[in-house]
Amino acid sequence: MVSGLPAHSEVIVIGGGPAGATAATLVAQHGRSVTLLERERFPRFHVGESLIPETFWVLERLGMLDRMRDSPFVEKHSVQFVNEKGILSEPFYFHDHKPQESSRTWQVVRSEFDEMMLRNAAAQGVDVHEGMRVREVLFDETSGTPRATGVRVQDESGGVCDITADVVVDASGQGSMIMSRLGLRAWDPELKKAAIWTYWKAADRGTGRDEGATIVMQLDDKQGWFWYIPLHDGTVSVGVVAGFDYLFKERTTKDPEAIYFEEVARCPGLQPKIAAAEVAAPIRVAKEYSYRSSTVSGDGWVLVGDAFGFLDPLYSSGLLLALKSGQLAADAVTAALAAGDTSAAKLGAWGPEYIRGLERMRRLVCEFYEGFNFGKFVQRHPHLKGHVTDLLIGDLFNDRVDEIVEPLNAMRREERSRLAGAAATPRG
Ligand SMILES: Cc1cc2nc3c(=O)[nH]c(=O)nc-3n(C[C@H](O)[C@H](O)[C@H](O)COP(=O)(O)OP(=O)(O)OC[C@H]3O[C@@H](n4cnc5c(N)ncnc54)[C@H](O)[C@@H]3O)c2cc1C
Repeated sequence: MVSGLPAHSEVIVIGGGPAGATAATLVAQHGRSVTLLERERFPRFHVGESLIPETFWVLERLGMLDRMRDSPFVEKHSVQFVNEKGILSEPFYFHDHKPQESSRTWQVVRSEFDEMMLRNAAAQGVDVHEGMRVREVLFDETSGTPRATGVRVQDESGGVCDITADVVVDASGQGSMIMSRLGLRAWDPELKKAAIWTYWKAADRGTGRDEGATIVMQLDDKQGWFWYIPLHDGTVSVGVVAGFDYLFKERTTKDPEAIYFEEVARCPGLQPKIAAAEVAAPIRVAKEYSYRSSTVSGDGWVLVGDAFGFLDPLYSSGLLLALKSGQLAADAVTAALAAGDTSAAKLGAWGPEYIRGLERMRRLVCEFYEGFNFGKFVQRHPHLKGHVTDLLIGDLFNDRVDEIVEPLNAMRREERSRLAGAAATPRG
């Protein structure tokens, strides 16, 4: 047996990361019983330190803004791009685009941020249990389509028990319990990437409003890019993202550390920044991680955050998507409980709008890997600069930004015919 756990909870949330904490808090704000089960004890390590401005509105609903304003997290005012020659293009300052408080965001040490989110959930009535691993989601399969009815949980000493629920929210991250169990995962065929990263101390930091900028730096052959994210603990998170085959198959060494330093040597923008710095943490790897579930919900269950899908981290969209899906799912769960209808349709009513937003960000990610040049695009279509910046700040959930699609298509067509023309021209 497992002590301290209820036999029934209206809502069970699997996982206490940002998506789970968001969904749980927003449902609990309506007085519903919410039990959150997290296998780790917080604080625990997690990658993904850079927030984007549109997280502001979810943080506001969570009652997290004062905690964030009082936190030591480094303020982030822009994203900056450094090309393959090491040249910095004009930064995207969020405040220049939208002069309001939400345009300032943060670079967070995830162990600290995630713990703040989880403690905030508990303070708002969520029954939080750490050190509790969900072993399986329980389904009633008697009626044809499986309906989630609860979970089987194991505590740290091996005790096991079942808890029933009206709704199970799967926020278990990339392992995604329900997606895996029901075989719903579709890998993104265009984004077969991998990442290798670590943390440096005494690395160069900008000053003033550039101090907390996220810098995206291309490799000299444009095969991939580095992120550069300054953190308040004195370290800078520095990681390379490139094609999986390029990083792990097409070279003699298989050692991630050796590969990482080979790529550092290929990044002209990065070298001056770490000239006097040293590595302060183990080298870590994430492989082939862009995927999406074929659906956001089923009868009695709903997926949020990475448990629904994950997009390449180029524009730091992961936490925004975790918070946003947590919020949208929480509103759907609250409405479903009020209506006494926890069907797939009711719990997933937010799915199409969310996926449209995700697709907009995905398009921008794919364009970058196709060689998209922001400067050139904005020069040619100055009136669309605002839309591009909207996407970069995470304002993805409005149809207005779709005005960039046709000009993007035209630019891509042009680039393809230029490359085809160059290939067909005999060399003199
Ligand atoms: C290389 C890389 C770089 C990234 N960079 C950025 C970035 O700069 N900015 C950004 O916004 N995002 C970034 N991300 C993405 C971001 O980290 C994720 O999108 C975000 O953590 C998703 O939050 P989540 O709550 O869905 O999942 P998680 O944060 O992974 O939380 C899931 C939780 O569920 C728990 N859990 C799992 N299984 C069980 C179980 N069986 N029982 C109980 N608990 C369980 C886990 O312990 C974990 O705490 C990056 C990701 C990668 C891979």
